Amino acid sequence: MLNQVADGVWVRQSEWVWSNAVVVRVDAGFILVDPGIDGSDLSQLADDVDGLGLPVVAGFSTHPHWDHLLWHSRFGDVPRYATPAGAQSASEVRERAQTMAAGSASGVPLELIGLLTRLPADGGPIPGEIIEHRAHAIGHAAVLLKDRGVLIAGDMLSDVLIPLLDPRQPGQVDAYEQALGRLGEATRHVDVLVPGHGSVAEGPEVAARLAADRAYLDALRRGEDPVDARLDQDWLSGPHQSNVELARQ
Ligand SMILES: [Zn+2]
Repeated sequence: MLNQVADGVWVRQSEWVWSNAVVVRVDAGFILVDPGIDGSDLSQLADDVDGLGLPVVAGFSTHPHWDHLLWHSRFGDVPRYATPAGAQSASEVRERAQTMAAGSASGVPLELIGLLTRLPADGGPIPGEIIEHRAHAIGHAAVLLKDRGVLIAGDMLSDVLIPLLDPRQPGQVDAYEQALGRLGEATRHVDVLVPGHGSVAEGPEVAARLAADRAYLDALRRGEDPVDARLDQDWLSGPHQSNVELARQ
């Protein structure tokens, strides 16, 4: 079911890790941001978008992790964009992403995973402002829709996942703090925050999300193992290097 969160912006949540697919209205039709997750989710999303009566004109992937690289033939053979770094990384990790998708979700069209195009410098058909940063994944980007008062945050600012540092990039505590600074700046223009996983935050909840992640990073910076009730990387995909270990790199 699509839940309208602002003018021309809808969210559909999947059961798998409360993943949010975002539908954004543009002049010619709709942009799909991070559509997911399993085959029946994708086909229900296609039904919902059909019901809105306009075609999908493009996709956008916030970052090159498998659950943000999905697509379905019913959305059409349209360009699916990512930042240049994100698109490059997606092509490198495509096989692994297909394996992870096959092991984690059912009915995913594996052949369509991670086929991304570099976003042109002028943003092409993707509306708003792209906020690229180095936290969580290579080429990760948020989409700021100032005119709708919405920030689509990808895997940042979640109420169900702790901040997840990227094992592939060093200096993640600094990178994460810088990213939170930029996202904090962006949230001054919004009433609605859509994370990649978890509930949509509105009004004062938006600042609370930022505060929770900043507190987590502060504890990590002090060398502590932060106490946080949200889920970690191990819960998502099996044993991983912990954030405490990664923070030392
Ligand atoms: Zn994710």
